[in-house]
Amino acid sequence: TLSPAARMNRIEISATLAVVNEAEKLRSAGVDLVDFGAGEPHFGTPQHIREAAIAAIHNNFSKYTAVAGTAELRDAIAKRHATDFATDYKREEVIASVGGKHALFNAIQVLVDHGDEVIIPVPYWVSFKDMVQYSGGKPVFVEADESQNFRLTAAMVEKAVTPKTKLIILNSPSNPSGAVMAPEDMKSIARFAYERGIWVISDECYVYLNYTGEEFSLGSLTEVKERLLVVGSLSKTYAMTGWRLGYTLAPAAVVSQMQKLQSQSTSNPTSIVQKAAVAALNGPQECVAEMRADYIKLRDEIVSGLRSIPGVKCTMPQGAFYAYPDISCAFGKAGMNSAADVAKKLLHEAHVVSVPGEAFGTTKHIRLSYAASHENVARGLERMHKFFASL
Ligand code: PLP
Repeated sequence: TLSPAARMNRIEISATLAVVNEAEKLRSAGVDLVDFGAGEPHFGTPQHIREAAIAAIHNNFSKYTAVAGTAELRDAIAKRHATDFATDYKREEVIASVGGKHALFNAIQVLVDHGDEVIIPVPYWVSFKDMVQYSGGKPVFVEADESQNFRLTAAMVEKAVTPKTKLIILNSPSNPSGAVMAPEDMKSIARFAYERGIWVISDECYVYLNYTGEEFSLGSLTEVKERLLVVGSLSKTYAMTGWRLGYTLAPAAVVSQMQKLQSQSTSNPTSIVQKAAVAALNGPQECVAEMRADYIKLRDEIVSGLRSIPGVKCTMPQGAFYAYPDISCAFGKAGMNSAADVAKKLLHEAHVVSVPGEAFGTTKHIRLSYAASHENVARGLERMHKFFASL
């Protein structure tokens, strides 16, 4: 029998993947599901990006590249950021990785040692907790204020700081709540962290899916650069989840440690994908605005639909493509006593796929990804209406 290394017992299989697997079983049995589970764009990758990948294949761009990505790609990342967010990163402060998840994993392994504490706002993206635990660190959770659109202030974070605090992880727009932090709150957290020598990772994988009209990267706060890592991804911005291309902007010393780790594991992200990424970053950006406009319509449809279900409460998400309704009105009915129970019944009886809030550190919510067709959003809402009405 297998007795895995101790570090394997500190992590679990990603909860979102577990839901996907259960839904897949029903789907293969012929059940017609409305899928609000998967956290990925329903759009295909824009054509000019696909064509760049095909050209790379035809040109035999098929060798290993530098571990951190080609110079062309690292420059394209830095330039895109400088143009859109007034940041100032040089090539040696950029590393490309195999998705934002890989970037975050490497960054956390580089920074966090055994016994270090890492502050993670709740609700959180599932993987933060497991990545910290894998490194031997200890997650310290700070609850955002749902009554104020899941607001997180410097004062709230500061209360959780101890002499062991090594890192604070921010994620705006947020998966799962869709909350967007006020730039002022992000800046004040980064400033106090800097003063105390605490690192900040700003996970900005949804930075272009911000519906407030005030797109903001913490990377623009140059005075804290020495303690800041900005992680980004092409997955959501350009509908490229399966291509696997993410990046980190950080002090050169951090980038060089991440490069060392990457050199002993994956090496470079796929060469062909790097060419496609350059086309995405340097090419026309209208596709991003078009997708964003559709997400805003979908958000309005799903939130007003959810709010019209008696008992269901839903904060207005300001970014990403998730609604995070409080469905605790169903507790105590039909044998349901937790968000996990509700998600399970919704799946098996209403045939709507959602992810229970337990995966993100809260007890009363489910996460619904509205990156879906307008028709499917309407169908899913109708099913949920019937389900809650029948209780
Ligand atoms: N960070 C957050 C908050 C996410 O939701 C995701 C994907 O769901 C990622 C990072 C990583 O995405 P990828 O690895 O596809 O770039």
